[in-house]
Amino acid sequence: MTVKAYGAHAGDKPLEPIDIVRRAVGAHDVRIDIAYCGVCHSDLHQARGEWAGTLYPCVPGHEIVGRVSAVGAHVDAFQVGDLVGVGCMVDSCRHCADCEAGLENYCDGMVGTYNGRTGDAPGHTLGGYSQQIVVHEHYVLRVRHAPEQLAAVAPLLCAGITTWSPLRHWNAGPGKRVGIVGIGGLGHMGIKLARAMGAHVVAFTSSESKIGDAQALGAHEVVVSRDPAAMAAHAGTLDLIVNTVAAPHDLDAYLSLLRRDGTMVLVGAPSSPHPSPQVFNLILKRRALAGSMIGGIPETQEMLDFCAEHGIVADIEMIRADEINAAYERMLKGDVKYRFVIDSASLAD
Ligand code: NAP
Ligand code: ZN
Ligand code: ZN
Repeated sequence: MTVKAYGAHAGDKPLEPIDIVRRAVGAHDVRIDIAYCGVCHSDLHQARGEWAGTLYPCVPGHEIVGRVSAVGAHVDAFQVGDLVGVGCMVDSCRHCADCEAGLENYCDGMVGTYNGRTGDAPGHTLGGYSQQIVVHEHYVLRVRHAPEQLAAVAPLLCAGITTWSPLRHWNAGPGKRVGIVGIGGLGHMGIKLARAMGAHVVAFTSSESKIGDAQALGAHEVVVSRDPAAMAAHAGTLDLIVNTVAAPHDLDAYLSLLRRDGTMVLVGAPSSPHPSPQVFNLILKRRALAGSMIGGIPETQEMLDFCAEHGIVADIEMIRADEINAAYERMLKGDVKYRFVIDSASLAD
């Protein structure tokens, strides 16, 4: 089936309207009429070819929510009309140790929702800036929020799970002091989730104008990272830092804030490397520097259910599909409060 989408034909070209073909619904497939799709900084990195290996045309979008419009003969878990989501992956091998552990995100055969290898035309996956998507049922998530919250649920599918997974893995919760660095799409969800888990949350921002917002999002303390005295006041105090910054920066400034055995998890994925941190900054306090990539299907469902139960959604700014290029420019300036979401109905205009 041919559907309308928005995509880029080259890294130095803006996104524009494009017709794409979705495969026929197979026995284990779910077809989703996309209602909304969040705009992740990874979309920008990939559409503009900032990470190696972008395949064009590139239709980004991996924060997808909508309603089921068809199911294959062997699909039992979903019915036409169900509210569902699709995050950053649409396939994996389903039998390796990572898949068995419910960590399909780390499977060597993981297929991203866009820019992943597939047998479907045009040979790579095309994402959620489109009217419909067809996905194997294993990678479809159930949305239990109220239907009127649907647009603000979309960013949970990447920004939510990417911060949830390290917060859970490194045991954020009561008695833990957790730093969230960078208050953008990921960071604002990190603040909400860490707070709801019961941790003491310290937000770090390079934008003084975000102090009030960070507090409203749930941060107990907010530190302007450009202020060396404010940073020094938190030295050696944090158990865990989730660093979402999308650009290279001095990691030592944050590693110094960890207490003994503390961990900083990098989730931000800049296109050029960070300067190497000082080894002694790790050795002297047995600190760890780690990375984390999105999350597995079971933990994504767990996060969605937790958010539905606790009334957590993203703070969003709705845009039309034809506003996406301007939205990218604003995202580069950190001028998003705090996630753009495309109203997919605008694709039909
Ligand atoms: P975003 O909305 O643009 O937020 C990034 C935030 O980082 C900004 O709002 C800004 O916050 C801070 N920042 C500080 N200096 C910056 C600079 N020079 N350039 C850009 N940002 C700067 O981006 P996002 O969607 O949250 O994504 C953040 C990063 O995570 C991206 O690199 C993205 O590709 C990556 N990502 C990784 C995963 C994963 O699985 N690991 C998943 C999704 C996204 P302040 O104004 O508060 O300083
Ligand atoms: Zn993303
Ligand atoms: Zn696998």
